[in-house]
Amino acid sequence: MSALDILRQVFGYEAFRGPQQDIVEHVTEGGDALVLMPTGGGKSLCYQIPAIARQRMGLGVTVVVSPLIALMHDQVGALHEAGVEAAFLNSSLGSEAAAAVEKRLLRGELTLLYAAPERVTTPRFLAQLDALAARGQLALFAIDEAHCVSQWGHDFRPEYRALTVLHGRFAGVPRIALTATADALTRADIVERLRLENARQFVSSFDRPNIRYTIVEKKEALGQLLRFIEREHAGESGIVYCQSRRRVEEVAQSLAEAGVAALPYHAGLDPALRQQNQNRFLREEGLVMVATIAFGMGIDKPDVRFVGHLDMPKNIEGYYQETGRSGRDGAAADAWMAYGLQDVVNQRRMIDESPAAEEFKHVMRGKLDALLALAEATDCRRMRLLGYFGEVSQPCGNCDNCLHPPAVHDGSELARKLLSCIYRVHQASGISFGAGHLMDILRGKQTEKVAQYGHEQLSTFGIARDVSESELRAVLRQLIAIGAVAVDGGMFNTLRLTEGSRPVLKGEVKVQLRVSVAAPVAKRPRREASLAPAARELGVGEQVHYINLKAWRAEVARAHNLPAYLIFHDATLAEIAQRQPSSLSDLQGINGIGAKKLEAYGADVLRVVADGK
Ligand code: ADP
Ligand code: ZN
Repeated sequence: MSALDILRQVFGYEAFRGPQQDIVEHVTEGGDALVLMPTGGGKSLCYQIPAIARQRMGLGVTVVVSPLIALMHDQVGALHEAGVEAAFLNSSLGSEAAAAVEKRLLRGELTLLYAAPERVTTPRFLAQLDALAARGQLALFAIDEAHCVSQWGHDFRPEYRALTVLHGRFAGVPRIALTATADALTRADIVERLRLENARQFVSSFDRPNIRYTIVEKKEALGQLLRFIEREHAGESGIVYCQSRRRVEEVAQSLAEAGVAALPYHAGLDPALRQQNQNRFLREEGLVMVATIAFGMGIDKPDVRFVGHLDMPKNIEGYYQETGRSGRDGAAADAWMAYGLQDVVNQRRMIDESPAAEEFKHVMRGKLDALLALAEATDCRRMRLLGYFGEVSQPCGNCDNCLHPPAVHDGSELARKLLSCIYRVHQASGISFGAGHLMDILRGKQTEKVAQYGHEQLSTFGIARDVSESELRAVLRQLIAIGAVAVDGGMFNTLRLTEGSRPVLKGEVKVQLRVSVAAPVAKRPRREASLAPAARELGVGEQVHYINLKAWRAEVARAHNLPAYLIFHDATLAEIAQRQPSSLSDLQGINGIGAKKLEAYGADVLRVVADGK
């Protein structure tokens, strides 16, 4: 049976996506692989199909190492739905249940076993794997979220380091490592730590064309977010990332008060409540999860319609991975971020104040700079994102800057005024000051502090009287972004000049400013809140079937304790509603209906359609 047959029969999909077929064939034949594919690219099938193929070849079980135990249940559930023998071993299982899984493993009844890294590397488990390997019944290792092995990423898991053992101890067993993190440092780390020097590398394009990138200037972030959700995504699923636990709580509450169904998620929540919120997000429709970055790795909900950032992430990898959680089903999705001066200040300070080694801080600063440059960009965001991952592309037509090209003007003179003000103030008073006071001086405001230090005497007092505070902030952001101004931590976030100030003062480096415009009004019509995007194209009669099918799916999902999308995707239901099948053979060939699902649900689906006529 070919890989394509397995894709069609077991998973009900018509064709492989991108490089999936090459990967599947290479691994099925026993090759090692390192797969770099963006979130939502379809990594799971890259090891699931080889696992099925190798089990059918009599080679035994595939062990999948995955860091997120919360999601193993759903992944295994999805495989059961497709008729594949799978199980998981993690700390959520009682000892009896774990023993039962081990028994099935040793009897050779499993095609895939999901396990947490700390479990895989216990002496006891390794001994069990030895026994399987001795009988030729260990088919493959799949190491998911492989970037967890790298200390450069934000998901570093020390337990992943211990996976080095697999290479030496099970020399004949092929390994496939997968990640959505693509920068060169992380990739080199994965190769080295997992001993994948001889693995074939499969690097997909990181483009997610259905995601629209928008970065707005932060004014009153919460109101901006609320308007964005109401205009573009009313009633739809989304994730909003915030930096701190407290902020998560505040934002979730404010959204809820404004009538948006929102839940909080952060590491400080009671574990039971946290788990419950995650389950609700996965299982219910139209919820907004407000979360710290603790939320999301391994969340494979396909119909998340937007990801918002109220605070700036640490680097482009983090931003791309978080935004990548939207639109996995391929339908239109939004990545929206509000960013302001405070974000720049905070991130810089966090690095400066961290106890890490100077070498490490240097790398972190470089990564932050790249993200700042993206945020300040006036050209295509996607070109910059892809450029960061080493891909060359053309203006995309689906980001804010492509859709509404911003007007720019030369802010170099204003930048020079600002820099000389920082210089004069320091010269006069012997200490540095924060952004607020400096802007007051530039704008010629007679504040108490100005009087206290006699700063109205400075030659820079009032030299930018006609400039708005928001424009001054924009210049300052740019100057910090390009390293021409440094922020010192401590209580006051004071600003000082750097080596990088000189070229700006000399006029060798230009500072481009975006002309502040009112937020563009959404061009897209408001969506029907109750209908998923795939269903928007349906006619009225078809929508009746679609709604009936969704109700039926909700019942099945509840009975199986699985998220609805693991039974069928919205797109599959929409296609059924459109075709209105009256026999099992009519159902064949609909995307997402494999042999097992046809057998399990075919008759029910036909009945629901017939009842709706
Ligand atoms: P990743 O792990 O790379 O983020 P997943 O493996 O979760 O992505 O796949 C994302 C979604 O795309 C899933 O819902 C999956 O069922 C679907 N998918 C993957 N490959 C295909 C394919 N060849 N045809 C149709 N749908 C696919
Ligand atoms: Zn663009």
